[in-house]
Amino acid sequence: ATPTALMVGTGRGAKMGILIKNGEVLEEVNDVKTVVFDKTGTITKGKPEVTDIVGDKKQVLSIAAALEESSEHPLATAILDKANSDKIEASTVSDFQAIEGKGVSATIDGQQAFVGNDKLLNDIKIDSELNEQMIRLQNEAKTVVFVGMDQTIIGLIAIQDAPKETSKSAIATLKARGLRTVMLTGDNKRVAQAIAQEVGIDEVIADVLPGDKADHVEALQKNGKVAFVGDGINDAPALTMADVGIAMGSGTDIAIESGGIVLMKNDLRDVAKALELSRKTFNRIK
Ligand code: ADP
Ligand code: MG
Repeated sequence: ATPTALMVGTGRGAKMGILIKNGEVLEEVNDVKTVVFDKTGTITKGKPEVTDIVGDKKQVLSIAAALEESSEHPLATAILDKANSDKIEASTVSDFQAIEGKGVSATIDGQQAFVGNDKLLNDIKIDSELNEQMIRLQNEAKTVVFVGMDQTIIGLIAIQDAPKETSKSAIATLKARGLRTVMLTGDNKRVAQAIAQEVGIDEVIADVLPGDKADHVEALQKNGKVAFVGDGINDAPALTMADVGIAMGSGTDIAIESGGIVLMKNDLRDVAKALELSRKTFNRIK
């Protein structure tokens, strides 16, 4: 496209809240075959809330809240909010450690405590009753974390993060244009599939460690150009790897820096609008 056409295109985008950092990216958008979405904060609202607690509620929450006080993860915020509103006091911790894509651990009263997913459990066994509860909650699209103390699971916390109201129609529009849609998430497969089904995404790649998101994008690029839509710190490498990196305006600074396009309204329908904009920008000069 001519420089003028690109300027007009980016100007129109800006008016719609679609920030195009470099007009050249519009050319890539035109050829995109697959749109890959992060889950939390991209498809979902990113405002998770605790819905269920299995085990001694007071004990489970006071330990979990103590551990999550030093974490910046959205799940941590949900757990702290719940402890606060239930007026549960957090225990005192030392030796806090965040384990990327898995959870957090620390020492409480000389014992090792943890909150996180099954990747954090190592040899700790989940008994069959707890396992059933976990599956039930995950099928309800709730993220389940284990709370443990001294090699024993003391409870489960289920956390729900609802899809944004517009996610479903945004996905439907993209699919109607013949695009392949994929969800890429660090969350559990059952939860990811439940959310994917709610919003109409066909393919799910779940249980992905933060460091592996970019590799999955690269693998998908074998079938054509890929747009990746995300918001988190862990999405930055995937945003860079993708042919078109689309960051949520509400996302972390590093995600916004890594994206070629920023959606200021945090509305997934703007992915299709960006596609439309690039088509118009390039047709103008043909
Ligand atoms: P996403 O791809 O959805 O942004 P992350 O890679 O940040 O997910 O986290 C993946 C999973 O790791 C979470 O679903 C959760 O099970 C676990 N996890 C990560 N951080 C924490 C934490 N602070 N507390 C509890 N669990 C955590
Ligand atoms: Mg996210």
